[in-house]
Formats: sequence, structure tokens, C-alpha cells
Amino acid sequence: MIHQHSFAYEEWPDELALSEADRSLLHEARQVTALAYAPYSNFWVGAAARLVSGALVTGTNQENASYPVGSCAERVLLGHAAVRFPNDPIDTLAISYHPKDKSSQVPLYPCGMCRQALLEQEIRFERPIRLILSGMEGPVHIVGSAESLLPFAFTGKGLRS
Ligand SMILES: [Zn+2]
Repeated sequence: MIHQHSFAYEEWPDELALSEADRSLLHEARQVTALAYAPYSNFWVGAAARLVSGALVTGTNQENASYPVGSCAERVLLGHAAVRFPNDPIDTLAISYHPKDKSSQVPLYPCGMCRQALLEQEIRFERPIRLILSGMEGPVHIVGSAESLLPFAFTGKGLRS
């Protein structure tokens, strides 16, 4: 028997198609790329999340000379949110990036490790995290949950089976 997995996502030509709240969040993610510490990859990533309470948290990639020690913007943001707002789930997360001294026009998606980390928060708070993905300009993708980006994920349920 063959099964098929698919999911729907939104694609817009630019941020003008977004609601004011989403546009403002994406703007924050683009702005915060300036705070990335990325001397090795020169790839500056910014993430900004609106929590259910309306609070805003941000994260940027933080690299290390020992490369695997570095952390992506998304997971830095999750740590930031967990400490400052421990019981306030993320509603929407915007992610942007740019190579050093360049712009970017293609939406990029979180790496596999960050998909796993985001999924854990969705399970913990029993609530999907909307993802807004875009470069510094150009098209915007919106995905309804991290779970849709990680089908057949390993979760705590698997640990107990
Ligand atoms: Zn990542």
C-alpha cells in the first residue's frame, strides 16, 4: 500500500500581502539579523516570535569556533522565550536572514534540528506555531505548524512506546 503525505502553505509575493501584525513581526526578524554572531558562516539569521500574550521575543544565530557548539536563531529564541515567558506559548514565529553585506530574496526554512526543537514546543503547549519565512525582501511563505515540516517525527510518545 502506498500512502502520500502533503501539507498546504501560503506563498505571497512580498510582505505587503500580510496582516499588519505579521508584517511587523517579519520586520522585527529582518531587523534582528543585525545582532547575529556569525563570523564563520557570514550568514546572519534573525527570528522574532509573537507569544500568545502579545509579548515579543527574538533570537539570532550564535556561532562558535568549534562549529557544532553554535546555535541557530530559532533555538536561541526558544531559550529566550522559555526563560522570560515560561508559560506563554509562541503564536507566530518569523525568520529572515542574509549573507554578510548582501540582501536575500528567497524564503529559507528552519534546519532539521530546529524543526525538532519547534515541534517539542508545539507538543508541550498543545498548540501549533505559525511560521513566517522570508528573505530581507521578496516572497513570503507561511506554514501553519512546525509539525507539518517534520512528518513522522520522533517525539516523547515514541520514547514511551
Ligand atoms: Zn536550525
